[in-house]
Amino acid sequence: MTAVSAPATAAQPARDASQLRQKAMIAEHYRSLSRAREEGRKVVYTFVPGNLTELIGSLGLLPVLPEINALQSGMRGRSASYIAEAEKAGHSEDVCTYVKCDLGMMLQGNVGPTGEKLPPPDLLLLSYTGCFTFMKWFELLREHYKCPVVMLHVPYQAEGRISESMRRYVVEQIRQQVVPALEKLAGKKLDEAELSRRLAVSRRAEDDLVAVWESARQRPSPIDGYFGGVYYVGPIFSAFRGTAEAAEYYSELRSEVEDRAARGEGPLTPDGPASPERFRLVVEGPPNWTSFFDFWRMFSREGAVVVASSYTRVGGLYDQGFRHDPRHPFEALADYCMGCYTNLSLPARIDLLTKYVREYSADGFLVNSVKSCNSFSVGQLQILRAIEERTGVPGGFIESDLVDPRYFGKANIHNRLQSFFQMLDARRARGTP
Ligand code: SF4
Repeated sequence: MTAVSAPATAAQPARDASQLRQKAMIAEHYRSLSRAREEGRKVVYTFVPGNLTELIGSLGLLPVLPEINALQSGMRGRSASYIAEAEKAGHSEDVCTYVKCDLGMMLQGNVGPTGEKLPPPDLLLLSYTGCFTFMKWFELLREHYKCPVVMLHVPYQAEGRISESMRRYVVEQIRQQVVPALEKLAGKKLDEAELSRRLAVSRRAEDDLVAVWESARQRPSPIDGYFGGVYYVGPIFSAFRGTAEAAEYYSELRSEVEDRAARGEGPLTPDGPASPERFRLVVEGPPNWTSFFDFWRMFSREGAVVVASSYTRVGGLYDQGFRHDPRHPFEALADYCMGCYTNLSLPARIDLLTKYVREYSADGFLVNSVKSCNSFSVGQLQILRAIEERTGVPGGFIESDLVDPRYFGKANIHNRLQSFFQMLDARRARGTP
């Protein structure tokens, strides 16, 4: 299938057909949420890393992902007022800004990013994947909404692998605590055949997504695996894994990317087709959302393409071989939860990023350290040093935040990136690999 791209204008970045499809899917999901009460549908709030979307969907429940609401609010220029509202209510400046953005939105009436009111949660499903803030966040929502919480404790991969006892521990919790709580809410028993059917659909989408990631090995890379990549992970990280819409989205996306690769084209950028590829980067850390397109342009206008990133692996390491296995549904869900990037130990993160630098022939490695997120930021300087030593590829370091615009210093970040790119150019001129 040939990609149909909407042309870029000053206000409206260029978009692939798959991106327009995704936009429509998201809008429809928010519409369903706004009608949930009148249609008698129950709503489960849950987090992206370790989400059990296929299980929630098998029982006819609707997921709400507060992190996605926060980032969408950030992109739409609403996060500053939500954060101010949360700080007025007593939440410290140090608290993760996703949390404050979500709490502020709740305090201002819980109107979601598309302008439709979000239903309150009937249940909070807390998949605990290493972030203590997740627990505190849902404690606050529980106090506000007076609704039940079910917790899935996901053990940290301290040894860099998933042991059989870890898998058993998570499977037991899913079977004995999570499924009964969801069944009670749904008012029906789980149909395990339906769960397996959804996991098989997930698997197809996962194959297509991996083909998209791996296309970045080509020169020029037909994708940007960070700025473009955050769109590519949208459906699979959120409410759509296991659905036919997600499978169609990934099939269309893969075709678009393969067509671009066959034509020898780079990715689409906010200004339209990419400038000639000058630098190939691996990026660690989440992007900034409040100035997302300005941030992207600082790279794309210099011909800098991100060939792989850790942020786009936060909701699953499919390119390292993991797939949802429909023959073993609960074990697959358990492995998925334990395998998310932020549940990996520091040495495992260093190994993975080193692999990306080598396999994708990167010229540079860059950390975007966000003030909000300890799950990402802890150890980033150590990661930077280790990767420079192991690969000989130079590292750069910038700082920003997720959705608090006070922490996006445009001139400062631009200057640091310019210096980084000049250094990469100078190395190239000296013939240093
Ligand atoms: S600290 Fe990081 S992982 Fe935890 S809620 Fe905030 S952004 Fe998410």
